[in-house]
Amino acid sequence: MRLVSRKLTFSIFAAVVVVAGRSVPLLAAQDQKPNFVIIFADDLGYGDLGCFGHPTIRTPHLDRMAAEGMRFTQFYSAASVCTPSRAGLMTGRLPVRNGMCSDKRRVLFPDSGGGIPAEEITLAEALREQGYATACVGKWHLGHLPQFLPTSNGFDSYLGIPYSNDMDRDPESPKGRPAFLTPHSEYWNVPLMRDEEVIERPADQTTITKRYTEQAVRFISSHKDENFFLYMPHTMPHVPLFRQTDFEGHSLRGLYGDVIEEIDWSVGQVLDTLREHDLDKKTIVVFCSDNGPWLTYDQQGGSAGLLRDGKGATWEGGMREPTIAWGPGRISAGAVTQELGATLDLFPTFVTLAGGQVPDDRTMDGYDISPVLFGTGPSPRDTVYYYRGPRLMALRKGPWKAHFMTQPGYANPRPTTKHEPPVLYHLEHDPSEKYDVAEHHPDVIDDIRQAAAAHRAALEIPPSQLEIPLSDQN
Ligand code: MG
Repeated sequence: MRLVSRKLTFSIFAAVVVVAGRSVPLLAAQDQKPNFVIIFADDLGYGDLGCFGHPTIRTPHLDRMAAEGMRFTQFYSAASVCTPSRAGLMTGRLPVRNGMCSDKRRVLFPDSGGGIPAEEITLAEALREQGYATACVGKWHLGHLPQFLPTSNGFDSYLGIPYSNDMDRDPESPKGRPAFLTPHSEYWNVPLMRDEEVIERPADQTTITKRYTEQAVRFISSHKDENFFLYMPHTMPHVPLFRQTDFEGHSLRGLYGDVIEEIDWSVGQVLDTLREHDLDKKTIVVFCSDNGPWLTYDQQGGSAGLLRDGKGATWEGGMREPTIAWGPGRISAGAVTQELGATLDLFPTFVTLAGGQVPDDRTMDGYDISPVLFGTGPSPRDTVYYYRGPRLMALRKGPWKAHFMTQPGYANPRPTTKHEPPVLYHLEHDPSEKYDVAEHHPDVIDDIRQAAAAHRAALEIPPSQLEIPLSDQN
């Protein structure tokens, strides 16, 4: 029945085009305000999807999403660890501007008293102002106290574990790494929350991806007649790794592969729901990851493919993410773009498409990248800032990336090495950052130094939210 009605609609529309006899947009849907869905994996590496080259993880739904949409090969998260990365995505601003980063504590913990400041405007708040229904389903990690939760930051509803799934460790659980190698949900006393209430503790993590998916499908189905924004930050594949029984032994890649294949199934459920409700041509979906793979967990961690290092590092493997944008009728099918993009750009891009205004009373670090999405022009972005906490470690300008400092992501020990002059890589020739070419390009080094100096001079760094103890809020 649905197929018949869609064919009929197309026939009528095609007739209009013939009668009009002039160039008109292929799809009337282009003139409508789109819905937005962001699916955000946790610690997924650049090399962990079939469509990004993994040899033994099967991701047919993400591969189809890529075949019907656009794959980004140079798309960045705002930081190499969870909390600052998510703050950048939600605000379109570097986390160093809003206190959502720290060198001392790299993310928020259950004993943290801080969170996303009230004066920040979140993507959900900006879209809700344009009449969008909003939902957050998954890992928030921008503060677990009531004033910091999704429902206090523009989301109509929330279901999820509010921080990382390896926190709230049961002191009786096996010490150290063994707990991660044979994980059981009860080792981590993390809460599952609905809006502001804890509904389950410890959360049964074996069904967490399944339950997030069911919630996402319910939200889409119940808001199919209005504009909506669904933010779906998965708890997985952050260690400890869990999947529902249907996915046990599903992948040749072992437990990590099973988890990715369940996320792939989940993406398929979301896209199928959009198709079933004829919302596919009214919705833009972006799939991305918050940071690179957690390499110190060996086979429990993912792969950054040909990129160097992973989570926690400002090498490419820490911040360049496997990114797919999907919007049939708006975004060209099968496109692969090498233009620069960042999660910071989703705020201005989506708010503008929704008919809203990007805030002009604060510094924004994102750009409207709709020219890239819709194939109408180059990316307005030519610079990427690589922060570790409040320290600017590296800067990319065009194809060139200069590292002022380097530090391993999570390895022990992890000394900081200062580089004078900076080490320089041409990322288009050398995506693996193997060959330092600084001595051949002093002019490039000078140019990047000046860009970094101008950026720093204009920067005001507020106190860190990540260093506020819970006792300060009690
Ligand atoms: Mg993460």
